[in-house]
Amino acid sequence: MTIAISQAQIQIIVDRAEQIYPEECCGILLGTISGSLKTVVEVIPTVNVWGNPELADVLADLTEICRTKTSRYTIDPQAIFKATKRGRDLQLEIVGFFHSHPDSPAVPSICDRDLAWDVYSYPIVSVMQGKVKDFKSWVLDELSIFQQEEISCLKLP
Ligand SMILES: [Zn+2]
Repeated sequence: MTIAISQAQIQIIVDRAEQIYPEECCGILLGTISGSLKTVVEVIPTVNVWGNPELADVLADLTEICRTKTSRYTIDPQAIFKATKRGRDLQLEIVGFFHSHPDSPAVPSICDRDLAWDVYSYPIVSVMQGKVKDFKSWVLDELSIFQQEEISCLKLP
């Protein structure tokens, strides 16, 4: 799989990750899928609602290591609903979800894997001491193991 994303779109994610640090930022990627190529059209940063009491039921069965916002993100279900609707209007679909890893590598955690769906891409940015140092994207393979995916960076505005 390859994900095509522009320099400007990566910058939106980088800015957001540095702004939200030391918490994890997160967001939705809208785009198109053609064979094994996903093309990002819109980056939608969302609020990290991890720890929101209204979502306690959904989050209750997660392990201790997943429990703080610095090691876990939850995209607001309302934001996903809105993005899905916007995607329908623009003939786009949700192609992935990005988030940041404050002071840790751009590698999926156990929690990331537990909550991932195989149709989506999961770009992760590593933010070390407030500065983004790495950007990698991940997809689940047929054994539900995360594999790094190729990033094709479009030099478009
Ligand atoms: Zn993560």
